Amino acid sequence: MMSDAASLQDFMPGGQLAPEPDARPNLIGLDRDGLAALVKDMGEPAFRAKQLYHWIYNRGAARFEDMTNLSKAFRAKLEETCRIDRPKVSMHQKSKDGTEKWLLRYEDGNEAEMVFIPETDRGTLCISSQVGCSLTCAFCHTGTQKLVRNLTPGDIVGQVMLARDALGDWAQTEEAGRRISNIVLMGMGEPLYNTDSVMDAMRLVSDGDGIAIGRRKITLSTSGVVPDIRRVGAELGLSLAISLHAVNDELRNRLVPINRKYPIAELMDAVRGYPGLTTSRRVTWEYVMLKGVNDSDADARTLLRLMEGIPSKVNLIPFNPWPGSEFECSDPARIESFLAILHRAGTVATIRKTRGQDILAACGQLKSESERIGKRERLRLDALRAEKEAAVGL
Ligand code: SAH
Ligand code: SF4
Repeated sequence: MMSDAASLQDFMPGGQLAPEPDARPNLIGLDRDGLAALVKDMGEPAFRAKQLYHWIYNRGAARFEDMTNLSKAFRAKLEETCRIDRPKVSMHQKSKDGTEKWLLRYEDGNEAEMVFIPETDRGTLCISSQVGCSLTCAFCHTGTQKLVRNLTPGDIVGQVMLARDALGDWAQTEEAGRRISNIVLMGMGEPLYNTDSVMDAMRLVSDGDGIAIGRRKITLSTSGVVPDIRRVGAELGLSLAISLHAVNDELRNRLVPINRKYPIAELMDAVRGYPGLTTSRRVTWEYVMLKGVNDSDADARTLLRLMEGIPSKVNLIPFNPWPGSEFECSDPARIESFLAILHRAGTVATIRKTRGQDILAACGQLKSESERIGKRERLRLDALRAEKEAAVGL
């Protein structure tokens, strides 16, 4: 029931009465130092921070009352002043093929998507780094949405923690076979336009005393923000995937506009210098197959030349159309021919299997729900693209 005092701001977009905002700080996203400062402020001995860290990130406790080795008094104090809240789930779908998709809602009402893709030998969680995206890649549906905001470290780690809750994965160890063995930053957003928060979050996710998913099992996918590729390489050493999609600057400027700022030669230099690349730890080149645009045999041969000397694997991604998209997916025979050229040269290359098609969980389809678009909508998108590109200096 609506109370007399309720005003318009009390309503969420969905129409329900918004809950009172919870002023207690959310501990998810705090690292060891953050928890140490908190514990000190509360007048507790320093070792409590370590215990708290372990409960939150290693055991996945969502309630202070479950933290049985903390004194009752401390637990009560924590309960009063702090919380450990995951994002809320506003929608959850499971595909026939086992792929699961969650629409997550943060406290400010913004939403981001997360997908879990089970395979026989691994389980990959695909997470988001931004609500919307700073960039405007021509074939990507997220690129048509404005950047609403960067996700915070807590928002990003919260995705992984929620997935572990949902999949019953906290009690598992790596050896016993966790359901989530790998993480890819391939959901909404460009991680390297939110580098600090992504790096803080991945430090928490990869910490062996915490969530403990190894750095090599975490793949950061970027459209090519060169200075930050170097930073991630130097400071964190995650596995790297590059959204290449075109083998000459003219076409890449159009498909992946960040290329106008960091052209292919600079991108290749940055990847060549990425620490730790070996034949057992390759960079992944993502290459979306667009009919008649980037899918010729000559393109495949140029790709081989570009990758020369770099331990590489190529992931050909069948284009997933969305309402208003101007491309078609290459024919299967064309994709096979492109793949065969790479294979004949001894390159590791695969075609990405489209998963979760029935729940629109495939690459570039996140948040696709509307129908064909009209001229007005096209004009609006053009204006938004210009605005976004100006914001990142393109
Ligand atoms: N912003 C980052 C990560 C998110 S996109 C990046 O661009 O790398 C994850 C992958 O999906 C990227 O390789 C992206 O180019 C690809 N992708 C986007 N839209 C797609 C579509 N409609 N069909 C197939 N792949 C798409
Ligand atoms: Fe953003 Fe990546 Fe989509 Fe480009 S492909 S618009 S960088 S999410």
